[in-house]
Amino acid sequence: MTEASDTLFSKIIRREIPATIVYEDELAIAFRDINPQAPVHILVVPKKPIPKLADAVPEDHRILGHLLMTVKRVADQEGLENGYRVVINTGADGGQTVYHLHLHLLGGRAMGWPPG
Ligand code: AMP
Repeated sequence: MTEASDTLFSKIIRREIPATIVYEDELAIAFRDINPQAPVHILVVPKKPIPKLADAVPEDHRILGHLLMTVKRVADQEGLENGYRVVINTGADGGQTVYHLHLHLLGGRAMGWPPG
């Protein structure tokens, strides 16, 4: 499997490929998804290249908490006061395609349930 440090998200973090970055701090970056599934579709990504949630270790708990707080911050920034959805696709059955952990922030329309 490709190392997460070689993924396109690591390249976005290193500014090697372009993205519309909406937030960044020392632990995380957030940028607009290139193929949006809702009026607002933003990816929140840790700078540490954890390939997928299943690979997180107990020492990552601060990063994982920080990612959720970053989603909340970006949702506020985007004016999603009516609500939003947060998705983590994990592994093959989870539909993950980029093996660098990321949270999808989806908003700007009502979401259906169950997900596909
Ligand atoms: P997942 O399927 O959960 O691994 O999500 C990967 C997401 O990355 C998809 O929603 C893609 O549309 C998105 N994506 C792929 N390449 C880029 C890119 N260069 N910039 C922004 N988002 C991207």
